[in-house]
Amino acid sequence: MTEKKKILLSGMQPSGALHLGNYEGALRNWVELQNTGKYEMFNCIVDWHALTSGFESTEQLVPRIYEMAADYISAGLDPEKTAIFVQSQVKEHAELHLLLSMIIPTPWLERVPSYKEKAESLGLDSYGFLGYPLLQSADIIVYRADVVPVGKDQLPHLELTREVVRRFHYLYGDVFPEPQALVTKFQVLPGTDGKKMSKTYGNFIALGDPPDIVKKKVMSMFTDQTKIHKTDPGHPEDCPVYIYRTIYDADLPADLADKCSSGDPSVGCVGCKKALLSALIDYFADFRERREELLADKAQLDAFLESGADRARQRASETMKLVREAMHMFKPEM
Ligand code: SF4
Repeated sequence: MTEKKKILLSGMQPSGALHLGNYEGALRNWVELQNTGKYEMFNCIVDWHALTSGFESTEQLVPRIYEMAADYISAGLDPEKTAIFVQSQVKEHAELHLLLSMIIPTPWLERVPSYKEKAESLGLDSYGFLGYPLLQSADIIVYRADVVPVGKDQLPHLELTREVVRRFHYLYGDVFPEPQALVTKFQVLPGTDGKKMSKTYGNFIALGDPPDIVKKKVMSMFTDQTKIHKTDPGHPEDCPVYIYRTIYDADLPADLADKCSSGDPSVGCVGCKKALLSALIDYFADFRERREELLADKAQLDAFLESGADRARQRASETMKLVREAMHMFKPEM
């Protein structure tokens, strides 16, 4: 007998170009999980979430959704194997979010780590911003997802979802599995300036950056700030160029770290950057080609997104039927 596949839900906000940090922190792992064949995969482009902080400038939302879909597919998510869809195309997310908002005490949301910090630093005080972790819970449980791939920092959000499930079950009976975290260890890439890679700091290399932009970014990357001359001993473990090369440069010389650390004049930062540049351009050559093709053919992207949304709606509407029954919501009797 074949084992039933577990339902896996993943997603990202279309809040700008996907960069190498997003690739290493999530996308690469999603593709690997997809290719195990062990999961029924739903991948949601969470456009409503993008409004929690980006509600004032929505003009870029649609182009970003298309770019994100193109990035996903070019990186290896296969629309036949993974339902890739846009959150706002599956209205059940909103209905479940509304119903959950009736049963969840506000303090549960106020105590979510990062809520206060983000509210203050971004000046956000909307009802939607407070409720976004609950919308996230709805995103997950509307598919009765068994697993969610997360980094350690997202565990508290998933724990909230598990609490939401328990509260729903206490009030109305069992409908959902308690989703489990599929914690992935991933390479945290520093930004091109050695700080945390972030869209806000502008220190990233986007997956879709054309070679001339990649060149500009790589050639101005920070290296080891203590290595001024070739003969100064370097610290490759703290050097962003070296860290990137360990991932993307199949021809990385095995003795580079030793030579850099010992100040061997046969290696230098400019040469290192040139080698990284050519490695990055090679590594993402197929990706770039596929991405360009897809972005030039919106009808094809629409078809992929619509078939993903169809599959998502089917699963989500089954869930909502169970939810409405459990909550004794109105249904015409005749
Ligand atoms: S030689 Fe290479 S590894 Fe060493 S500090 Fe310069 S860029 Fe980094």
